[in-house]
Amino acid sequence: MQNGSIGVTTENIFPIIKKFLYSDHEIFLREIISNAVDATQKIKTLASVGEFKGDLGDLTIQVKVDKDKGTITVSDRGVGMTDDEMSRYLNQIAFSGAEEFVEKYKNEANNIIGHFGLGFYSSFMVSNKVEVISKSFKEDSKGVKWTCDGSPEFTMEDDSKSERGTEIIMHIDDDNKEFLEEAKISGLLKKYCSFLPIPIAFGKKKEWKDGKDVETADDNVINNVSPAWTRKPADLKEEDYKGFYQELYPYTDEPLFHIHLNVDYPFTLTGILYFPKIKSNVDLHKNKIQLYCNQVFVSDSVEGIVPEFMTLLHGVIDSPDIPLNVSRSYLQSDANVKKISSHITKKVADRLQELFKEDRAQFEAKWDDLKIFVEYGELTDEKFFERAEKFTLLKNSENSYFTLEEYKKLVEGNQTDKDKQLIYLYTTNLDQQYSYIDAAKEKGYDVLVMDGQLDVHFIGKIEEKEKVRFVRVDSDVVDNLIRKEDAAKVEWSAEQKTALKTVFQSQTPKQEKVEFMVQFEALGANANPVMLTQNEYMRRMKEMSATQTGFNFYGEMPDSYNLVVNTNHPLTQRVLEDQETACNEKLAPVQTELKMAEAKRDELQNSQKGKKDEEISLDEKEALDAAKKQVEELQADRDAILTSYAKENKLVSQLIDLALLSNNMLKGEALSNFVKRSFQMI
Ligand code: ADP
Repeated sequence: MQNGSIGVTTENIFPIIKKFLYSDHEIFLREIISNAVDATQKIKTLASVGEFKGDLGDLTIQVKVDKDKGTITVSDRGVGMTDDEMSRYLNQIAFSGAEEFVEKYKNEANNIIGHFGLGFYSSFMVSNKVEVISKSFKEDSKGVKWTCDGSPEFTMEDDSKSERGTEIIMHIDDDNKEFLEEAKISGLLKKYCSFLPIPIAFGKKKEWKDGKDVETADDNVINNVSPAWTRKPADLKEEDYKGFYQELYPYTDEPLFHIHLNVDYPFTLTGILYFPKIKSNVDLHKNKIQLYCNQVFVSDSVEGIVPEFMTLLHGVIDSPDIPLNVSRSYLQSDANVKKISSHITKKVADRLQELFKEDRAQFEAKWDDLKIFVEYGELTDEKFFERAEKFTLLKNSENSYFTLEEYKKLVEGNQTDKDKQLIYLYTTNLDQQYSYIDAAKEKGYDVLVMDGQLDVHFIGKIEEKEKVRFVRVDSDVVDNLIRKEDAAKVEWSAEQKTALKTVFQSQTPKQEKVEFMVQFEALGANANPVMLTQNEYMRRMKEMSATQTGFNFYGEMPDSYNLVVNTNHPLTQRVLEDQETACNEKLAPVQTELKMAEAKRDELQNSQKGKKDEEISLDEKEALDAAKKQVEELQADRDAILTSYAKENKLVSQLIDLALLSNNMLKGEALSNFVKRSFQMI
């Protein structure tokens, strides 16, 4: 029997481990099992080079929980340790300033543990006593038992252990009783050990017999020792990749594509990345890639290792070259990590390019699901844009797909305006904007479908890159979408327009944060009499404000629509004539007075023009104010006559409602009033 003191330079390392490594208590199991895996791999290597000549036997690592004794035991059949090795490996924690260091990195347990080879000591985070019983593979070695109760004092004594290997018995302390629950350990094994290269058994398999669970003789192996990413792509079938995806994310939809990464120079990295089907919320799918180091699970946060847009991908990355035990900020500036990141970007782009070339039909079939990744990448990574440009597709309302180059060729002839600006028309909703799409098609225009989550941002990107302008089909009347010559003249007089502006304006719906502006266009008898359009720029700014900070100003603005009155349509001409017959008698005296008042106001204004404020007398100022006021009052009288006329005119309301209806904006009471009115009018 040997007594000794563990070689730490500080008084007592254990309180520090216990106190500061609290955030990640559970990793002790990963550390202890990793050691067992290492020891097992060593014996396999020794056997393969002939340095170990005995029988390897069953190499399964056993994990057992004994709730009554309060212990967790991990035993392996690896190389084991001689008493000499034990005192060398377990007793020397050779670093100085431990306390200071731990203080500095107290929230990053991973840091200290990996950095200082404290793996084994992490068992003290959860135990008040740890026993290590080991027997080396070396000939004539005897079993040894090392015991430590959490103070720097340990004991070492001979043990009767007859089999090669190591057994670690952790006596779990009162604060960590949760780790004695089978379900808890089972969960941890699943999280950290699912793909370790040596079989890990957690107790025995159970069987349902005579109304209860009974243990069978078979080990309950919890891991897959050769997960898909560690195998050669040539040996794997599509099914294997799909199966592995299910293993990683049970009950998820099949992925769209996979990419098998296999790099050995200038760094070592393997892995499989999947493009998942993203249904709704992008954020829910983020950060699902799992990071492994030689098949040991390290983290499910790949932030900083893969480019931001690729955090949408799923799968596994395994690399011993990613410095796992350093802080995130260090990680991002690490040269190796940068190389890895740009390599992955290139791989992903290459793979997509290959799929596009090899089987365009299949690529097109998947494009709707795939485009969110490509767009995200193109928006956030200039390098990726350059690579992806060739296989970025645009879809039109007929469900045909075009590359950016093909589309340009397709519409160049017909969709270039008088200023030589190429215009791409698009819709965000095939159903809602149906009548506008129809009108555009009638004119021989092509309409793109841009209904993806990132499309509003993507449109901006394409405009910048391709020197084109996107215009939504409902942002103006069809003749104005792509202006081929200067706008046709409106044939109504100024007075007629002023009158009808009031007539229509007064009957637009009163809604909070929605504005309607009446506008006149001579569009011909075939176009609708009244229609709604929405300014492209304002609408886009508002849409961007919904998904991006910095556009709040636009988000607060009201939705603004143009109510375009077609002066050439028989129905609007009827409204005009009818209004003139009904109102002229009442309006005539007001109009005469208004004209006089306006003349007077203009005259006063002219006489004061160019004069400095002090050169104008108080009387003159008051006279102008009075004249202005009179004009306003008379305008109000005129508008009152027109509004009360408009209120009684069913045709005006009907025309406005029809415009709202074709924009899917007529709802609730307004809709039911419309239906009633329609019956009356029939
Ligand atoms: P690290 O694994 O980072 O070197 P540890 O503190 O976890 O640090 O382990 C220290 C050493 O103890 C290991 O390098 C190994 O030589 C030895 N060791 C630990 N666990 C075992 C085991 N199960 N079998 C054989 N040797 C072990």
